[in-house]
Amino acid sequence: MNETPPIILWLRRDLRLSDHPALFAACQSGRPVIPVFIHDDEVAGLGAAPKWRLGLALKHFAQELTEKGSRLILRRGAALDVLRALVVETGARSVLWTRGYAPGQIARDTAVKAALKADGLEVQSHPGHLLFEPWDVATKDGGFYKVYTPMWRAVRDREVPAPVSAPARIAAPDVWPASDRLDDWQMGRAMDRGADVVAQHIHVGEAAAHGRLGAFLAHRVARYKSDRDRLDMDACSGLSENLTYGEISPRTIWHAGWRALQDGQAQAEDFLKELVWREFAYHLIYHTPRLESENWRPDWDGFPWQGEGDAVQAWRQGRTGIEVVDAAMRELYVTGRMHNRARMLVASFLTKHLLVDWRLGRDWFADCLVDWDPAANAMGWQWVAGSGPDAAPYFRIFNPDTQAQKFDPNAGYRKMWLAEASRTPPQTALDFYKACPRAWKLSPSDTRPIPIIDLKTGRERALAAYHDHREKQ
Ligand code: FAD
Repeated sequence: MNETPPIILWLRRDLRLSDHPALFAACQSGRPVIPVFIHDDEVAGLGAAPKWRLGLALKHFAQELTEKGSRLILRRGAALDVLRALVVETGARSVLWTRGYAPGQIARDTAVKAALKADGLEVQSHPGHLLFEPWDVATKDGGFYKVYTPMWRAVRDREVPAPVSAPARIAAPDVWPASDRLDDWQMGRAMDRGADVVAQHIHVGEAAAHGRLGAFLAHRVARYKSDRDRLDMDACSGLSENLTYGEISPRTIWHAGWRALQDGQAQAEDFLKELVWREFAYHLIYHTPRLESENWRPDWDGFPWQGEGDAVQAWRQGRTGIEVVDAAMRELYVTGRMHNRARMLVASFLTKHLLVDWRLGRDWFADCLVDWDPAANAMGWQWVAGSGPDAAPYFRIFNPDTQAQKFDPNAGYRKMWLAEASRTPPQTALDFYKACPRAWKLSPSDTRPIPIIDLKTGRERALAAYHDHREKQ
């Protein structure tokens, strides 16, 4: 047993050393710190790509902790049971963590906090995942924001505390509790053949995240607004992958963005606006947890969405015959990411042209995205489907061909991802066949599929379905 009771730092989506208020507070106390990550039901329920990517984040962060004289203790089980066991083993009197805001996280954390407090422990939850706590941003009448632009106006000029520094050292306990081996958790097991391919496109860890931010501000922010919708350009920051595991804090990005703006980079404001879309997603999911799984607009209940079937499978495989949609679905499978405009296009095609329930799309993204985020994904799907807040009106149906002409004018994006379209396909397009399940039986020498739906017919069918649904209400 340690003489000075240590602090348990329960890590979740906050795998960084700098601007980590809970870690900072733990270190400031002068007491030994035991960083713990728990493989609980939330982790077990992750999709293939996010779980694999989380495993890489943990491996990387464990090394960073070692360099600070600390360790990452890994345990498996229900969070409360694991934390209680650790309290008994280590004599800890305090448990600290960074707040989560998705419905499952809130339910778990509330129960854990109440139980540990009842055990007589000190429990602290800290900010760090967001710029603004969802309850600190309110409309004039005290409600929450249901539309993005007024929220942006409300927070734009708010004071955001400066990031706190990384600790020079993290005090270690006299005796370390036992830890699972990360390899035994097999975080990449569900990745099938895809891991080696997707691994070429990811940027793991805090240093990589800061590198990404620096490169973006040095080379791309100047034309961010002008180019961010271009499918054939690398015009965005790529930081969503790091934000979702907490490898960089939103405050760090916010302050860097503001400095760029003040240094004369006018388009940095548009970047800050996007960061507030992430805040908006969490604001909404906190105030309306149904965003995650139910139509945010109840008048959408009863809409005759279609379910699982050949069309959905063709969409997943990038075999709809609509080139830009197929290119985007291949990009997703090969890189674990997808351009934001492409996300909107494939979501619109699935939910409008194919009339498929947005939850099937949400789930496929949750399985494939290395930047999967419970709030941004649910909001993105509902926003496009029309069932969500601040939604694109249902009758606004993206035409994928027109969008491709506008945002991929030289077909560079489509060529990059579609092998069937070329005699000499680029490696990016060929990599899809290395990564996709053998059971799909796809080959680069397949002929291009004919469109599974005529775009005009699909659009008219969607409008008719919407009209009928409204009539019945
Ligand atoms: P940048 O353009 O560099 O933007 C900076 C940051 O702002 C991003 O890293 C991200 O944190 C935030 N941001 C940008 N756009 C959005 C947005 N529309 N909504 C919320 N936050 C935003 N984003 C995720 O992080 N995880 C998801 O699972 C996810 N699923 C989506 C599903 C659909 C159907 C749609 C339409 C969008 C989804 N998004 C999701 C939002 C957006 O596509 C990504 O955040 C963006 O593509 C990330 O690329 P980036 O980091 O280069 O963004």
